[in-house]
Amino acid sequence: GATLGVMGGGQLGQMFVHAAQSMGYRTAVLDPDAASPAGLVSHRHVAAGYENAEGLAALAHEADAITTEFENVPAAALTALAQLKRVAPAAAAVAIAQDRATEKNHFRQLGVPCAPFAVIDSEAALQAVDEELLPGILKTARLGYDGKGQITVADRAALREAWQTLGQVVCVLEQRLELDYEVSVVLARGFDGTIVHLPVQRNIHRNGILATTLVLPGHIAEPVAQQVLQAARRIAEGTGYVGVLCVEFFVLGDGSVVANEMAPRPHNSGHYSIDACDVSQFELQVRTLAGLPLTAPRQHSPAVMLNVLGDLWFPSGSQAPRTPDWAAILGLPGVHLHLYGKAEARRGRKMGHVTITADTTEVALETAARAARQLGLPLDF
Ligand code: ATP
Ligand code: MG
Ligand code: MG
Repeated sequence: GATLGVMGGGQLGQMFVHAAQSMGYRTAVLDPDAASPAGLVSHRHVAAGYENAEGLAALAHEADAITTEFENVPAAALTALAQLKRVAPAAAAVAIAQDRATEKNHFRQLGVPCAPFAVIDSEAALQAVDEELLPGILKTARLGYDGKGQITVADRAALREAWQTLGQVVCVLEQRLELDYEVSVVLARGFDGTIVHLPVQRNIHRNGILATTLVLPGHIAEPVAQQVLQAARRIAEGTGYVGVLCVEFFVLGDGSVVANEMAPRPHNSGHYSIDACDVSQFELQVRTLAGLPLTAPRQHSPAVMLNVLGDLWFPSGSQAPRTPDWAAILGLPGVHLHLYGKAEARRGRKMGHVTITADTTEVALETAARAARQLGLPLDF
């Protein structure tokens, strides 16, 4: 049978492997860590760095088509693989998502609204910053995630200091917006241009990291959902994108929507689709990569997703890690536990997630609240 390959062995790769295998594919993972979550479950695991030519050749030899599970694979590696096998998404699309400055300019060019911003790449650019961007958030253009590489700046002096702190690398200064709430949407675009999407989901962050995703019917105002879908489609089409794409948005007080960033892959906020939809974001990734038909996913249950971070292993400041009491939450109806098999729990590390599904929104929220209380998570949803 055919083999599907994935660059990166994290939890997103692991869930891709699960979906691919359940659809009859063999899988191959490239990740330097032999004990990576995806490496643990894949038929094949190539233990090599993403720039290692032999590793890339080995992956291309194993796999008939190759995708990626994180956006920081070197675009050159995807370009090299594309000489040998089908690769989706394409290197060019991934390269856009790798650089906030490129990404924001790309959104702007496509007519997709985003926060007012300026690229800070020199002393002169720092000097020229428009007053309207302050207070703002200074973000490194590359390699930031989970709020890392970001500093909120109140004024020019703070901006200068923040740029020093970030090592004077290329940054984007964004105006700090007053957010009503945050949403994201996952879509899939096939080789033939067909687009399907999952429902728009609402996200709650804690300390810059996604904490909770709510996907409750009627929860997002229709005009907001329409703006989100239109912008996401525009990005996918304008990029000639093939594969699964997630776009994060801010919803402002006046009901308008601005795009924040895009991920050229399945996304943490789309994990609920495994348990609450008839087609998950990982099945969509398999379908796009394998050139299979795309059908519109249907959400069959209201869902709440709670992220499980390593912090849960250290209740009230304890030093030695302690495994959370999974049996306690599994006694609640509609609780789906997903653990990624990471050996070591660390604060802020994504260890797993829990999705709560139910017949009704009320029961989903009530059960999620009970599960959160049981796990010691804040009740901020
Ligand atoms: P991810 O892990 O999603 O890739 P990231 O490190 O790339 O995160 P962003 O998504 O840019 O970071 O920002 C993280 C969070 O910070 C956002 O979800 C939002 O809550 C807040 N934030 C970011 N930019 C702004 C802004 N311009 N105005 C207000 N809040 C913002
Ligand atoms: Mg990001
Ligand atoms: Mg983000």
